[in-house]
Amino acid sequence: MDDPATTDLCVDCRERDASLSIRNRRLCSACFMRYVTSKVLKRMESFRFKTLSGDDRRRLLLPVSGGVSSLVLLHVLDAQLQRQIASRNRTAYDLVVLRVVLPEDEGSTTLKGDYEELARKFSAHRILPLLDLQAVFKLDTHIERDFEHLGLRRHGSESDESFLNRMLSCATSVTARADLQSILLQRLIVSAARQHGCESVVWGHSDSRLAALVLADVAKGRGGSVPSTIADGPSLHGINSNYPMRDLFKTELQSYAQLVPDPLLAKVADSGETTAPPTAMRHTSIDTLLRTYIHSQGEKYPGIMANVVRTASKLDGRQASTITATCPVCIRLIVRSQGLLNPDGNLCYGCDRMRNDIKS
Ligand SMILES: [Zn+2]
Ligand SMILES: [Zn+2]
Repeated sequence: MDDPATTDLCVDCRERDASLSIRNRRLCSACFMRYVTSKVLKRMESFRFKTLSGDDRRRLLLPVSGGVSSLVLLHVLDAQLQRQIASRNRTAYDLVVLRVVLPEDEGSTTLKGDYEELARKFSAHRILPLLDLQAVFKLDTHIERDFEHLGLRRHGSESDESFLNRMLSCATSVTARADLQSILLQRLIVSAARQHGCESVVWGHSDSRLAALVLADVAKGRGGSVPSTIADGPSLHGINSNYPMRDLFKTELQSYAQLVPDPLLAKVADSGETTAPPTAMRHTSIDTLLRTYIHSQGEKYPGIMANVVRTASKLDGRQASTITATCPVCIRLIVRSQGLLNPDGNLCYGCDRMRNDIKS
């Protein structure tokens, strides 16, 4: 029988006292940190030295959102690159870091200072200047033509900022506005990656975030393209997507951020998304609702959440479809199943539905 005095030993090292319960295992903080790091690096194996030929330089874009997940990702990759420098005096890839300022960030008094602090701490990498969402009109040369499918056109000499604000105010539902904004954000990030010669975007989405995205996409009629949007590897944007945090829950990333002795991480560890349910449902988008739901409820059942993402990845929308094409607005696969799509349309079902909620 176990001696009661030793029963709370870490199950990994069997040396130190356990301080955390992670997926029903008692771990010490050192082993927990190693667990997080190994989960991330396992997903980064395609960016090892071995896969490099000659003097190749690979560049990856890491968009940070100000939340805990992308900052933990940056922290883990920075430590990996520092170890590579120490042992080989070079790195297997370069990181380019980007932060986009969204309309709801306007007026934030801390954003600029926080980003400057991040730039100082991670100065070994290329930290791009803050980018406003309206920069999408400069970096993505097709977007204005593509958005005409939604009935959205620039008025005469309208500035990028006014055009963006008018565009978003044309959405008659909170969900359509959030959807439109997330498409603009995605297209901006991908365009910035292309502009800076990056072969892939490494996203900070945790398993919990991906589960919320999958469920929201299904609810918005974008379910058909889910497997391709959450897959690691080539995307229809012509640039790769990678989700190295996909095996970690958001609560685990918050624990990691609390344990690392770093004020930048400590600041985001407790903030992040609120677990309180939104008060006015009418003013809540499907995306926010599901994110809050998963954060407050889903994490009691982490196994089920992990299954949402795993199962969605395995669905192959193409099999059920008759014709496939790329939607010019969201740049996702159009899955034309019978009875689901406006037969004359060239938009995917999700964008077609969104267009109904845009009054230009
Ligand atoms: Zn341990
Ligand atoms: Zn679309």
